[in-house]
Amino acid sequence: MVSTFPNPSTVDLSRLRLSIRSLQPQLVEWRRRLHQQPELGFQEKLTAEFVSQKLQAWGIAHETGIAQTGIVATIKGNKSGAEKVLAIRADMDALPIQELNEVPYKSQNDGLMHACGHDGHTAIALGTAYYLQEHRQDFAGTVKFIFQPAEESPGGAKPMIEAGVLKNPNVDAIIGLHLWNNLPLGTVGVRAGALMAAVECFDCKILGKGGHGAMPHQTVDSIIVAAQVVNALQTIVARNVNPLDSAVVTVGELHAGTKRNVIADTAWISGTVRFFSPELVGFFKQRIENIVAGVCQSHGASYDLNYWSLYPPVINDAGMAELVRSVAEEVVETPVGVVPECQTMGGEDMSFFLQEVPGCYFFLGAANPEKKLDYPHHHPRFDFDETALAMGVEIFVRCVEKFCG
Ligand SMILES: [Zn+2]
Ligand SMILES: [Zn+2]
Repeated sequence: MVSTFPNPSTVDLSRLRLSIRSLQPQLVEWRRRLHQQPELGFQEKLTAEFVSQKLQAWGIAHETGIAQTGIVATIKGNKSGAEKVLAIRADMDALPIQELNEVPYKSQNDGLMHACGHDGHTAIALGTAYYLQEHRQDFAGTVKFIFQPAEESPGGAKPMIEAGVLKNPNVDAIIGLHLWNNLPLGTVGVRAGALMAAVECFDCKILGKGGHGAMPHQTVDSIIVAAQVVNALQTIVARNVNPLDSAVVTVGELHAGTKRNVIADTAWISGTVRFFSPELVGFFKQRIENIVAGVCQSHGASYDLNYWSLYPPVINDAGMAELVRSVAEEVVETPVGVVPECQTMGGEDMSFFLQEVPGCYFFLGAANPEKKLDYPHHHPRFDFDETALAMGVEIFVRCVEKFCG
């Protein structure tokens, strides 16, 4: 297969920025191609094929089918120096959303859409791989590209780690980015420590005793019990968590009842918990169970509680965050620049990689209100300013050159 890139000899290799920005048309082309064929988590078949074909065409060694649809590619630099290994992670999955954008590259898969920007992440990682493969003389050590499935849940990072992607050669550090419409184009959000929250989830069934709406004394009203549980759950953050720690308990679902004069025997509550501090792992599970048990017991109801952790918090290593910050400052070059306070209660399974090796996950501003490219992530009209693609490649390349020497 023939590369669609300009011949590297025709670009000024001494000027990293110019040569990376010359890749912009290809980055846009790949991103749009991926945007047209969105696939859900663990079903990224065509996406993985596309990535593999490009890597193959450029002569980059890689392994496919890891954790079903994941890919790992490796590029070794030719420069002599410390043999460090840096991993770059990109996610590939889309969402079950019907796209409402009327653009030539609109999703061709009904009901599916790249509404989070993972098409852009894959294109940025591909562009970085291409550039580094062509400029192996500029870095020592090894760069490992991790194209992972299913970030939007159930999560592809963990199974990829279990499949050994951080080993052989052993990864010393990892970086990754999220195109971010909460930040304007030309900014980068990066910070040491917690960037994104832990995501935990619960489903709770409350079992009372049904009966006639006019004869409550013969029943155990599951709606009354559920209402008290919902209210009491809000005291966890308000009264039990250190006010200097951030946390959220949200009940997003409450279902009960069939008719206005019937007392419901069963109520269902579902919710999500978010927090930054790793010390709070296990705390909410215990506290929620205590509240549900106590309220139910006081009313003579019983319950069935299912609580699980989806993703741990995204915690950046201070040294790696500083590396990304120093590089990003050179790349975005705008008065807005680097935004250190950019935490969000959103979650990300990049956290599993960051539990294994030091690293940094960061936000690359991609919103452009003037072009109406500022809808939030997961919105059916989500789209981002593609100028950010080359910026992403430049940040990654500079990180490699700085980290690997
Ligand atoms: Zn998302
Ligand atoms: Zn995302």
